[in-house]
Amino acid sequence: MRAHNFSAGPAGLPLPALEEAKAELLDFEETGMSILEQSHRAAPYAAVHAEVMDLLRKLANVPDTHDILLLQGGASLQFAMVPMNFLPPGRSADYLVTGVWGQKALAEASRVGRARTAADPIEADGRYLRLPTPEELRLDPDAAYVHVTSNNTVFGTQWKAYPETGEVPLVADFSSDFLSRPVDVSRFKLIYAGAQKNLGPSGVVVVLVDREWMQSARDDVPTILRYATHAKAGSLYNTPPTFSIYLMRNVLRWLDGMGGPAAMETRNAQKAGALYAALEECAPVYRLPVKAEDRSVMNVVFHLGDASLDEAFLKGAKEARLVGLKGHRTAGGMRASLYNAVGPSDVEALVAYLRDFAKRNG
Ligand code: PMP
Repeated sequence: MRAHNFSAGPAGLPLPALEEAKAELLDFEETGMSILEQSHRAAPYAAVHAEVMDLLRKLANVPDTHDILLLQGGASLQFAMVPMNFLPPGRSADYLVTGVWGQKALAEASRVGRARTAADPIEADGRYLRLPTPEELRLDPDAAYVHVTSNNTVFGTQWKAYPETGEVPLVADFSSDFLSRPVDVSRFKLIYAGAQKNLGPSGVVVVLVDREWMQSARDDVPTILRYATHAKAGSLYNTPPTFSIYLMRNVLRWLDGMGGPAAMETRNAQKAGALYAALEECAPVYRLPVKAEDRSVMNVVFHLGDASLDEAFLKGAKEARLVGLKGHRTAGGMRASLYNAVGPSDVEALVAYLRDFAKRNG
């Protein structure tokens, strides 16, 4: 029996995607070999690679102006690659810091060039419980770009509408909510998303980048760290993480069959709505620290009113096959991640446990 997996990432994958991999693991399309064992230049893998590109273009509704890249190094390498390519000497970049990952992105940019904090609604205890208000944004009209984290995996906040940056290019880390809802890609010069939450296993990062902007990038950067290198080579400049990309194909096929991001938006809103409502109903056994309008649909952060019950809560959850609920060490408490692959029945099981625990401990 499969667990109800609420892990923040690597996260649960859709069962059909895993079953497809299982069925063809030893003999991929009658080649007599696994896909893991084939050249990345040979036809069987080339078809997988092309299908992933096609599915991404369709599902993310990527306009012709943007290239799709499949890179390695995690979203963390993107923290460095973005400024290395797009932050020239004499310019500065604006960072909207709304959590741990935004802090890391800013820190990397500061190693490359001049990076400004354009907003940072941090609490005195180091947590982030809300997004900045429009009045709090201190945007520099001459910035090389503005960087935003779409969904804050650790603290559970999520932008619903992205800030207006005028002529300044907008760059976004979509690692924890890519393809969870429709997004107007044309508003962004660059989007990046690590795969291990909504897209597949770890090992691959999807980048959508405006072609013209990419051509304007610095070229005094090592070849492998230039976006243009990978775009020119169709993300086959060097050996790609073939198995991660293959599994992403299975996940994207599943997502396509489910109706894509538009269908996911409804399903994800229902899942998160049911969970937040149950947590609110059971107050004060549970507390929701995040400001209501900034709450994430992907990562639901909550605390037990009595933190001495944390261990008992997690133990009981494990017995009910509810896993991955312990919060990030910097946020404390609990976190239920509700990525695309988490089904409504998983959320129902969690809600039933929450109610039962509250009754026993209220
Ligand atoms: N950005 C966000 C929003 C994340 O959630 C994570 C990982 N949890 C990262 C960046 C870092 O990703 P990676 O470990 O793939 O470098």
